[in-house]
Amino acid sequence: MATIYVDMDGVVADFDGFARKMLDSKKFNSALDRWEDSEWQRLRDVPNLYRQLPKMPKADLMMLKAQRFVDDLGWDMYMLTAIPHKNDIPDCQHDKILWMQEYYPDVRVRFGPYSVDKQHHCLPGDILIDDRPQNCEQWRAAGGRAIQVTADYDQALRDLDQVYQDIRSLLNLRSL
Ligand SMILES: [Mg+2]
Repeated sequence: MATIYVDMDGVVADFDGFARKMLDSKKFNSALDRWEDSEWQRLRDVPNLYRQLPKMPKADLMMLKAQRFVDDLGWDMYMLTAIPHKNDIPDCQHDKILWMQEYYPDVRVRFGPYSVDKQHHCLPGDILIDDRPQNCEQWRAAGGRAIQVTADYDQALRDLDQVYQDIRSLLNLRSL
């Protein structure tokens, strides 16, 4: 059976929203932009940064839709998250796992460990839900299906529905 992987920051955890508030910055999209060193420094200094992130408004809906692959299709499901590219937030992994234990305690967490390593978790047919275009492209190149979360979060929910329906139809056809 295949596996569905769900990214954390930008998909279920609102890293950008939290960071914008901390830095009093108007707009920033960490899927596309890099933080200035000075900004990153300030974020790094926030104690247990990743433990404190609020949930994305529609995170529960996304997780419910992902859970259907497990319940209805017998797939595996993991969160697939990354550590900062310089590994300069030592509590990152621990805090991300604590965050998951609070909000989605039944879902296990895997680390890339770096963002660029996510593609190595992909077996053909596996799904990744992620907000970073590069991660999605690399996932597709590895033979998986990627659902990209953009500012239009609902589109990703619809895309996931579509993939789910496609797979169900295929299974129904095979069982005829
Ligand atoms: Mg992300």
